[in-house]
Amino acid sequence: MDLSKERDTDLDAKIRPQEFDQFCGQEKILENLKIFVKAALLRGEALDHVLLYGPPGLGKTTLAHIVAHEMGVNMKITSGPVLDKPGDLAGLLTSLEEGDILFIDEIHRLSHVVEEYLYSAMEDFTIDIMIDKGPGARSVQLSLNHFTLIGATTRSGMITAPLRARFGINSHLEYYDASVLLKIVRRSASILNIGIDEEAACEIALRSRGTPRIANALLRRVRDFAQVMGSGYIDTAIAKYALDSLNIDKRGLDVIDNKILSTIIHKFKGGPVGVGTIATAVGEDVGTLEEVYEPFLIKEGFIHRTPRGREATELAYRHLGIDKYNPETLF
Ligand code: ADP
Repeated sequence: MDLSKERDTDLDAKIRPQEFDQFCGQEKILENLKIFVKAALLRGEALDHVLLYGPPGLGKTTLAHIVAHEMGVNMKITSGPVLDKPGDLAGLLTSLEEGDILFIDEIHRLSHVVEEYLYSAMEDFTIDIMIDKGPGARSVQLSLNHFTLIGATTRSGMITAPLRARFGINSHLEYYDASVLLKIVRRSASILNIGIDEEAACEIALRSRGTPRIANALLRRVRDFAQVMGSGYIDTAIAKYALDSLNIDKRGLDVIDNKILSTIIHKFKGGPVGVGTIATAVGEDVGTLEEVYEPFLIKEGFIHRTPRGREATELAYRHLGIDKYNPETLF
């Protein structure tokens, strides 16, 4: 097959893991989910509702697909902002068969009315629907098949307490280590029939910001360079050349990550500085900064969290090419 004719979305579907054993990393979450799925299957029941949270691209949707596959059920997919009215949700819920999964991405963006409508569906598997209009209008209670709701969010802080309490299983996905990303790059390369040497795969893994989605996207972009400039095989030289041409940071940091570091260093003398102040200075909202950007920067050792605020580490100075002790490089 001519790979160059495949679209990125087709490739996505090909490399998305389908079974627990194909999913790399997040061992603790996987171990628990396997047990819960097995127990539900043994009892012949629907799996308890699952809340998956963590930054974008870490595998929340993939895990939902895997759970559906392992449970042998169908999954319907929607997202918080799409569900405008309770009626939209009612339509979806009534179409679910026994044990089916409803996946709601960005569940923190559900409107209040839709969220409240979801409560009785999750708890008692019933919903109220209105029949007729005008004076004859009345509400009737409808029973639903027992289904599993899998909610995904990048912003766990924005999930209300009543909604959170209705999920029996809560899992927090973490950024991936380079060694796990390396396995993911190798696996994707082998599925897509891309020849790549070990060092080149490492280079991609290291520059992927701890995120499988970025690792896979970089692999495809580097392959473009390899096909046009060489034989199609990705060796270290081609990988480095492509990643540099794509302006990919050597440690995988993105524009906002770098902006956060340079703001702490240049505007606040390296910190400590409160997270709210940093957020205002970089034009991001505090929650996104705390839940999406900061965990990676802390994990990689670029910032410290102290009781008085965030501080840039020596590594952050070095990364930006700044000599902490030479004021001239600071400004
Ligand atoms: P999210 O829903 O958290 O934004 P996705 O589940 O859409 O992320 O994952 C993005 C892509 O990364 C998927 O297409 C999948 O191929 C890949 N991926 C994510 N997690 C893993 C993993 N643990 N192992 C292998 N590939 C993964």
